[in-house]
Amino acid sequence: MPASIIDGKKIAEEIKSEVKAGADKLRSEHGINPGLAFILVGENPASQSYVKMKGKACAEMGFYSVTESLKAETTEEELFSLIRRFNADGKIHGILVQLPLPGHIDELKILTALDDAKDVDGFHPVNIGKLVLGQECLKPCTPLGVQELLLRSGNDPSGLHVVVVGRSNIVGKPVMNILLQKQRGANAVVTIAHTGAKDLAALTRQADILIAAIGRPESITGEMIKRGSVVIDVGINRVKDPGSKSGYKIVGDVHFDSASRVAKAITPVPGGVGPMTIAMLMQNTLKAARNSVNRSNAT
Ligand code: NAP
Repeated sequence: MPASIIDGKKIAEEIKSEVKAGADKLRSEHGINPGLAFILVGENPASQSYVKMKGKACAEMGFYSVTESLKAETTEEELFSLIRRFNADGKIHGILVQLPLPGHIDELKILTALDDAKDVDGFHPVNIGKLVLGQECLKPCTPLGVQELLLRSGNDPSGLHVVVVGRSNIVGKPVMNILLQKQRGANAVVTIAHTGAKDLAALTRQADILIAAIGRPESITGEMIKRGSVVIDVGINRVKDPGSKSGYKIVGDVHFDSASRVAKAITPVPGGVGPMTIAMLMQNTLKAARNSVNRSNAT
């Protein structure tokens, strides 16, 4: 039987409607509208389009949002000064610095300058540290989206063997840290694989849940997957497709046709993890706005 499809688009819409309802409640009960500031440096077309999509999602949620587009030559000092302004701005509950930044800017220094309570991307070292310690924090959006996809598709990872292929700071490491916590919706036994793995297929074949975050088109094939497992494909790769109007198509890190003959459930690309990232950004922004109310009530 072919794998069932885990519909990320549908699940992301569900989450966004919950966030919208939560934001309506926050506005009516506390007079607070979640606010998100985007900082875009340079003219990378992919970054411009991501920020536009995220801004559109804010509008759908009824959030306040503002985008500061800065020239590629912007200095670190200019960026720090803008971040200080947003850190101090009571209308702004989340700040998103669109990555990658131009090469002359130290990304970690910039991310560390954010107020960690407004770090809705979950990349501030304080939030990463709390994530590792299993403490309450803002968590990175794509890994959080992977966990939600599993839970909302009826695939609770508790007690299962999750194999993550990829150890990046934005996907592989945080998804591992989210899923291994001794907490509801997690509690998995997690293995993380990377280019150092001597026999990748021997590891991936042990996975009850396989998460591919590799950045190599269709590199996980059906014979690398355990029968009846759940496959989450984080990859977004643009490959040539002479048959299509644009001349290219988007594929994942998993070879969908062969994998879906073996797996129990699988995410498609596009339409799997991709839409979840923005939904989780909206959820994180609402959470940051709610936290700001709790903090002001506590003082
Ligand atoms: P990355 O920083 O390039 O990391 C890739 C990881 O995969 C590295 O840890 C690398 O190992 C490992 N790897 C590469 N080739 C391998 C191989 N042949 N065997 C085993 N491991 C291998 O990529 P990333 O930023 O995590 O992104 C991964 C994918 O997810 C990309 O396709 C990206 O476009 C996509 N993505 C999607 C979203 C979304 O919203 N859906 C968000 C972020 C990223 P080493 O550490 O040993 O080099």
